Amino acid sequence: MNGLILVVEDEPKLAALLADYLKASNYEVSILDEGSGVADWVRENKPDLILLDIMLPGRDGMEVCKDIRIFSRVPIIMVTARVEEIDRLLGLELGADDYICKPFSPREVVARVKAVLRRAQDGRTIRADSLVMDEHTYRATLHGRDLGLTAVEFKLLRLLAAHPGRVFNRRQIMEKIYRDDRFVSDRTIDSHIKKLRRKIETIEPSALLIHSVYSVGYKFEPLT
Ligand code: CA
Repeated sequence: MNGLILVVEDEPKLAALLADYLKASNYEVSILDEGSGVADWVRENKPDLILLDIMLPGRDGMEVCKDIRIFSRVPIIMVTARVEEIDRLLGLELGADDYICKPFSPREVVARVKAVLRRAQDGRTIRADSLVMDEHTYRATLHGRDLGLTAVEFKLLRLLAAHPGRVFNRRQIMEKIYRDDRFVSDRTIDSHIKKLRRKIETIEPSALLIHSVYSVGYKFEPLT
């Protein structure tokens, strides 16, 4: 499976058509036909991408997009029935990743979905279960809550989380997170790790994301 796509669309035939095409491309698909429960559903089910119609009963797509952006950087493609609306939407900076206008060919939608997912996986955002790291803002959230990381802590966590299971020794960590050649002792790395763990534990006490590997260094293991 290539990932879970949430289709939010109140026209049942259109939703079914999109689902067929996406499934044929090996995506798993869920459909919601109104806006008000979407954010909660996303929180619970963590889709890999959302196709979000704008005109929806319950809560419109723009509001839904804003709701989701409070806690998640999941890629969102907005679907509008009016081509002239796209300019306005861009100006609103809703945080959507792409826009598609109706009527569209399902093939085009699948191509856009693939492109947006590729971009998202290109290192802009790191996701490991409920941990989301946004490279643009240096913001990391766990279960939608801001970890409040410093730049060094962010870089440290990004390095480890981008390579789950791989052990880094302190020297490698130093070289990767400090660009300049200033001397940083092993204890500095250890103290950053300690602070990072404390911030993670504040949000989820049982979460052990960063593991010590005795006499070697550290590694990241996603939550199970
Ligand atoms: Ca609609």
